[in-house]
Amino acid sequence: MSKRDYYEILEVTKTASPDEIKKAYRKVAMKYHPDRNPGDKQAEELFKEAAEAYEVLSNPDKRAQYDRFGHNGMRGGAGGGFSNPDDIFSHFSDIFGDLFGNAGGGMGGRQTGPPRGTNLRTKVKLTLEEIAEGVQKSIKIKKYIPCATCNGSGAKSKDSVKSCSTCNGHGRVRQVTNTILGQMQTTITCPACDGSGSTITNKCGSCAGSGRQYGEETVTIDIPAGVTENIQLSMSGKGNVGERGGGAGDLIITIEELPHEHLKRQSNDVVYSLFISFIDAAIGNNNIEVPTLKGKAKIKVPPGTQSGKIFRLNGKGLPSLNGYGRGDQIIEVNVWTPQHLTDEETKILEQLRDKPNFQPNPSKSEKNFFERMRDMFS
Ligand SMILES: [Zn+2]
Ligand SMILES: [Zn+2]
Repeated sequence: MSKRDYYEILEVTKTASPDEIKKAYRKVAMKYHPDRNPGDKQAEELFKEAAEAYEVLSNPDKRAQYDRFGHNGMRGGAGGGFSNPDDIFSHFSDIFGDLFGNAGGGMGGRQTGPPRGTNLRTKVKLTLEEIAEGVQKSIKIKKYIPCATCNGSGAKSKDSVKSCSTCNGHGRVRQVTNTILGQMQTTITCPACDGSGSTITNKCGSCAGSGRQYGEETVTIDIPAGVTENIQLSMSGKGNVGERGGGAGDLIITIEELPHEHLKRQSNDVVYSLFISFIDAAIGNNNIEVPTLKGKAKIKVPPGTQSGKIFRLNGKGLPSLNGYGRGDQIIEVNVWTPQHLTDEETKILEQLRDKPNFQPNPSKSEKNFFERMRDMFS
């Protein structure tokens, strides 16, 4: 299914200020709020869509990422995304809190059953080689998992679960709030049963009625090629499980890039500092070996190569996250000056010292610093 542009959803321009975005979101969210459109599935979808757009555009990092990569960049191919209703409501009450007063634990009558578990965060370290190809990683996560004894119910047996008398098993209770827009009827999480709709008369002994235990799960994640340091991928339902059968929060994975032994990343290019002897620099060498992200490559250094010369291996860099194009490997030449010479070597070089061809003549051959920079980024 194709997703609508976030700016289009909120009806703002790409240059809209944070304040304009907040106002625009408020307008759209008010229009489609579930309490004002009971039972209207389409309004609910539009409401969720607006919340997702706001979640991204209100966060400078996410907004920049979205501007660069579009929806692909946001999802990172990791599945999941932003569909966590708790998140929607957390910033929703944030933005409407002043309007409606704090209704306590979310605005609408949308959440049923016990509350979801919290999100978890973890880091994954990747080598440049892994980033170049994309990689599947399995990570062990310590987190709350459903209690094995009671299967997450928190009850000793089926008979020890009774319908909550405060909310008649709905998990929500109605509340009338006075707002500047007049009276609004909202529903809130039932305070007696925390939204689960039931009370337990005889608790499970293993988890003391919480329905969960601390444990470990191995999570497998497909990381797309071209990710960058600090990018975040979200896996829905892989965070902590909630109490008494409440769904799991999300697992948010932050990418860390490990330094490479030879190559330095520069956006989607990789830069390699090559040292050659001044003999190779003077007479050339067709067989110079350089490391790349995919093993060794050979390059030709022509006679008369100066320090600072840039060679480019096209397409040997990193792919861009949006799937279009690939960076280059940039090879920066440094001419190595010997630091120790034998008497014999010194003698040979002394014979060459005054030869006219050995006198520096940079005006013709050597590009200056700014020209080299231009070469590098052109
Ligand atoms: Zn249990
Ligand atoms: Zn209740």
